[in-house]
Amino acid sequence: MKITILGSGSAYGVPMMFNTWGNADSTNPQSNRTRASILIEDEGKSILVDCGPDFREQINKNKVKNINAVLMTHGHYDHIAGIPELPRATKLLGHSIEVYAAEKTMAELKNSFGYLFTGQAEAEPDSKKIEWKVLPDFGQFSVCGLDFTTSLLPHHSIFSSSFRYKDFAYVTDWQELTPEAKSMLQNLKLLIVECNNGFEKAKNGHSDIDNIKKIVADVAPQRIILTHISARVDDKKLSSEFELAYDGQIIEI
Ligand SMILES: [Zn+2]
Ligand SMILES: [Zn+2]
Repeated sequence: MKITILGSGSAYGVPMMFNTWGNADSTNPQSNRTRASILIEDEGKSILVDCGPDFREQINKNKVKNINAVLMTHGHYDHIAGIPELPRATKLLGHSIEVYAAEKTMAELKNSFGYLFTGQAEAEPDSKKIEWKVLPDFGQFSVCGLDFTTSLLPHHSIFSSSFRYKDFAYVTDWQELTPEAKSMLQNLKLLIVECNNGFEKAKNGHSDIDNIKKIVADVAPQRIILTHISARVDDKKLSSEFELAYDGQIIEI
């Protein structure tokens, strides 16, 4: 399995607009972070997780050739803003794309991009279908013949879907583990997990270094990589304690 980190940044990216670096290390090219998204490639299939405002640039920069399906974690802007590009993606690829979202996330998508659900966006010649699929809140589901497991985690006033595929899991936009997620995340070779707040304590629905230490104690993954890093994070200091994801990083497991 090949995992590409398309984006490793928080909602506003690093640097934020007006070239605002905050506590991030502006001298390190790896501190340049677009909005969080990954691509999982295995058994001839390409599965995108989240589709944010940097989607088009991420696809081009990483020379992505195909997308079969998109898994949505939740309905916040930094994870969904690229969704309206998908009808054009189907046209360019010449095949349909399946989009999976939990019931409440699907409702958010309909609310944000209602016209995509009417067939209007597919009226363009040669566009193929977006196939909307509702994810279970917990448990197993299949994407293009690949078996995944999902578990909803609390994230501020909403919930975010976390995903496991084989020995790999991706957990983003979360504030605490639930018993269901704890059992889903056992015996992992690789866990990529959001640490938006770094050393800062902020009640914003995201995790910090203490949550990361707790998840390590709870599920003991062989390798852990932190992502969805905000400009408030002193990433140089954080990288002395944990491995940080960077845009364009490729991991084979
Ligand atoms: Zn986010
Ligand atoms: Zn969020």
